[in-house]
Amino acid sequence: MSAPAPAPHPASSPSTRSIALSAAGQPRACSGNCGAACTGKQPGGHALADFRALAGRMDINGPRYTSYPTADRFHGGFGEADYLQALADCAAQPAPLSLYVHIPFCENICYYCGCNKIITRDHGRSGRYVHYLVREMALAAARLGARREVVQSHWGGGTPTFLDAAEMRRVMDAMHAHFDLLPEGEHSIEIDPRRVGDAQMALLAELGFNRVSLGVQDFDAEVQQAIHRVQSQAETRAVVDAARRLGFRSVSMDLIYGLPQQTAARFAATVEQVLAMRPDRLSVYSYAHLPHVFKPQRRIDERALPAAAEKLDILVGTIAQLTAAGYVYIGMDHFALPDDALAVAQREGRLQRNFQGYSTHAGHDQLGFGVSSIGAVAGRYVQNARTLDEYYGALDHGTLPVMRGFATDAEDRLRREVIGALMCNGVLDIAALEARAGIDFATHFAAELDELATLAGDGLVRIEPARIEVTPLGRLLVRRVAMVFDSYLRADAGRAAQAAQAAAPARDADVGTPVKTPAEAPLRYSRVV
Ligand code: SF4
Repeated sequence: MSAPAPAPHPASSPSTRSIALSAAGQPRACSGNCGAACTGKQPGGHALADFRALAGRMDINGPRYTSYPTADRFHGGFGEADYLQALADCAAQPAPLSLYVHIPFCENICYYCGCNKIITRDHGRSGRYVHYLVREMALAAARLGARREVVQSHWGGGTPTFLDAAEMRRVMDAMHAHFDLLPEGEHSIEIDPRRVGDAQMALLAELGFNRVSLGVQDFDAEVQQAIHRVQSQAETRAVVDAARRLGFRSVSMDLIYGLPQQTAARFAATVEQVLAMRPDRLSVYSYAHLPHVFKPQRRIDERALPAAAEKLDILVGTIAQLTAAGYVYIGMDHFALPDDALAVAQREGRLQRNFQGYSTHAGHDQLGFGVSSIGAVAGRYVQNARTLDEYYGALDHGTLPVMRGFATDAEDRLRREVIGALMCNGVLDIAALEARAGIDFATHFAAELDELATLAGDGLVRIEPARIEVTPLGRLLVRRVAMVFDSYLRADAGRAAQAAQAAAPARDADVGTPVKTPAEAPLRYSRVV
């Protein structure tokens, strides 16, 4: 089936143009005059048409940059001693914190799942897990000395609502025992609407959560059968209504496109049903089919997956649908209502990214609790053990269950700032960065500026002496823009080029060795479109 077409640019019909060209023959960035859906900042009809034309060429594998360096660069050489030092450094500079709590249990398997989860119906297992979670919190908090304020907390999974009322109270009591959770902060929890009723919603409100995030994925019956996640719109609506009644400040929903049996028309119907519930935030993730990495995905019938062109139609149609309904495109896969804190923060140029995606509170150190959770403390990233046995074993020995991590240096932090500015606020103030970091931007990032010039030619960025601006088209491919500043990808590319050269010594000098660019990032990352 065909996609709902994005609104055509008034100055040119889709049949006569795919990429608007400037007088210089370069794809031009949106002037902001192309119609109601395009404000010059948001990807409206103009940028969507250009995106459709560029997507095939740009659809490469790339990181999502919830951290920089990305989590695949973390290593086992970083251990508990390094984390303890990070906590000591954090203790020396008291500032509000962010907390992440991972609950890995789920009752049913969703076939598309790529999360670290444990499928079980045995609630005895969660009781034991909570016991260790509380222990881990006490160990970490003891290293911080004085009680610290918490401006943001998030329970993710798995399914956090797998815990029963007593277990939830126990975890929340432990958090309050060690930290001051500020009532004005953001305290969120991921909810499976199939498992939550009015009583549990009331409990979440009583425990101090003020934001809920609901997994939806797709309301189409055939898609739900194909992914083994049957969830009616009515039960989802009941949770949203309860959240509104109970005064939760924000309701967010997750959708996934690219799932088996999906078509643009079917997904458009799901989006309509979602819009009827008017969530404050929406995430529309691209399904990455990697059955060699994620075992549950082997149960997905590959023949039922939408073809690349259909998947692109779904994405373009969804962006057009959501922006036409008044949602602000925050970036990558995130949308928000104009008065939501994310949209306001972006307008004010203070949006950031953390492990939960876009955030208004990402500048704070984050402590992660539970299996596989990731923290960011005093310039270090730290990730916990991935299995329950390793996690319990470390805590039984009175040690923090660190599996791996990464200590950033000044160069990492500089590049993180550049990537963050481009991904979150769509603009990099070069002069301000030079003053802060004491660098000459053009010299320091000469190779990056060369590569960026190509993306400027494609209309993804505008490069000026004092700033780099991501265009509305570039915001749809912002991971590709960010990858330019990833020095680890660049080093990978250099090594791959050297290896290719060594493997082909007799190659014709006129042909040369193909140079692998950072654009050709490895398969461990998902596609950027
Ligand atoms: S998608 Fe979510 S609910 Fe489904 S199995 Fe994975 S973690 Fe559990």
